[in-house]
Amino acid sequence: MTGQPVWRSTPACSGAADVFFPLEGGYTALNAAKAICAGCDVIDQCAAYVDELERDVCIQLGVWAGRSQNERQAARREERRLARRQEARERYQSAAS
Ligand code: SF4
Repeated sequence: MTGQPVWRSTPACSGAADVFFPLEGGYTALNAAKAICAGCDVIDQCAAYVDELERDVCIQLGVWAGRSQNERQAARREERRLARRQEARERYQSAAS
């Protein structure tokens, strides 16, 4: 992945980096960023973008697509858990047939 994707040229968070990467303020600060994401026209593209970045390159800090870093990590763990369960189910069904 190289450069900035086109959809990032005018997202709802433009110029609000301090809101999306709060150094303090806890949940109140995170919720301020999430509220902006909730009205963003490119939230789906943003979610796909950060998902790819975090899988391939590095962990991204801050709020992206309405999720904190911890929430994104938890979603990926759940995704992996479901994939393992599905894989085990398919192995069992294959062995049983
Ligand atoms: S979803 Fe949130 S972080 Fe992503 S581009 Fe929109 S406002 Fe910015």
